[in-house]
Formats: sequence, C-alpha cells, structure tokens
Amino acid sequence: MARRRVPRYKRDGDGGEATPHSPSGRIPADLTKQALHHSYGGVPLFYEDQPFTCVDCGKEEVWTAQQQQWWYEVAKGSIYSRAKRCGDCRRARRAGVPPPQPIPHVGSLLKIVRADIEPTLTAAGFAFDSRSNSRDWREPAWNDFRRGDQMLSLAYEQHEARFSAEFLEASGGHRSVANIQIPQPPSMQNVVATIKEFTAAVISFLDALESYS
Ligand SMILES: [Zn+2]
Repeated sequence: MARRRVPRYKRDGDGGEATPHSPSGRIPADLTKQALHHSYGGVPLFYEDQPFTCVDCGKEEVWTAQQQQWWYEVAKGSIYSRAKRCGDCRRARRAGVPPPQPIPHVGSLLKIVRADIEPTLTAAGFAFDSRSNSRDWREPAWNDFRRGDQMLSLAYEQHEARFSAEFLEASGGHRSVANIQIPQPPSMQNVVATIKEFTAAVISFLDALESYS
C-alpha cells in the first residue's frame, strides 16, 4: 500500500488536523477584528488558555482562548489588556460589592504599622494628629503625624491592598516616602512581609530626615 504524503505541519506537533479548536485549545486570531493599535509588537496571533491569579481574591482561574477571542475581537478590548479578575469578582464588582479582603479587619494593619513606627516618629519629634478607619472599602484608612507645619501621612488603600506614606512639607510640597502593594496571593506571609518592608522604608526616611534637618 502506498504511503500517503503528509504535509510537514500535519506530521509535527500533535499530528491532528489543524482546527480552530485543537486539543491545545489554540485559536488563531483574526487580526482584522482586533481593536486598532499603533504598535507592531505584542499583537496576539492566536489565543491559548492562560492561567492567572485574580487580583481581588487570589483565586487561580483560566482565561480561556474562547474568552480572549471574544474580548479582543467582539468586545474590541485593548490588545494590551489581560484578564485580572475571576468571574465571581467581576460580577461582584459590577454589582458594587466590595472585594474580599486579604485578611479580616484591615484597619488593624495600620495599627501594626503604627506600633512599629511610633518610637521612631516620637524620637523625630512627630506627634499623632488624626486618623480615619473608614469601613468603606473604597476609602483609604490613614494615620497622620505632625511636627510643626510638617505632616507624615500613613495610608492603607483597601481596594488596592496598598500601603503609602507621604510627607507634606511646611511649604505645601508633597513627597512620596513609600508606596507598596501587597503581592498576590494575599497570604498572611505576604501581608507581614509587606508591612515589614513598608515600616522599614518609613523609618529610613525618618532617619534621613533627622540627619538633614
Ligand atoms: Zn476573584
């Protein structure tokens, strides 16, 4: 029996027919349907299932090839955009429900920060001024410390899971001292490491401030 000649692209790889829904889940992209772009790089030539970690709850989810094709070619999503949130968190966000918090009682995070920093603050001549521990997840929780006309503001932005420290000078100038986001997944280990990194940055700022004032 004569052996049929098979094109190379059919012999290599998985050996199957090239179909829009091959076993790997690959779907060829229709570049003419993607949103307009001004760059020749980074354009998806095909879609393939992509695992990702939800930025809100830390859950692992798969952004399927079919979902990507719909996003880029039907919804005309930016070619630079990627899936960030799982289905549950996307629905909760649309409904205005706050995202799950990495750990309960986020207001207590600033208490831990304050306990770490307060001795250095006091030594540098700063005194506690005011604070807000909003229960609204869209609002930052903050602690302000004052030294004369200067202010050091420590904040935790709940929905970004981000710590920030800002120094307001007597002249009215602002200076960003530290800006650190809790990495995903928001495990207790990551939360503790982020607090440590944040307090260290603020303390070294205070030390430097002392040496130059
Ligand atoms: Zn989620």
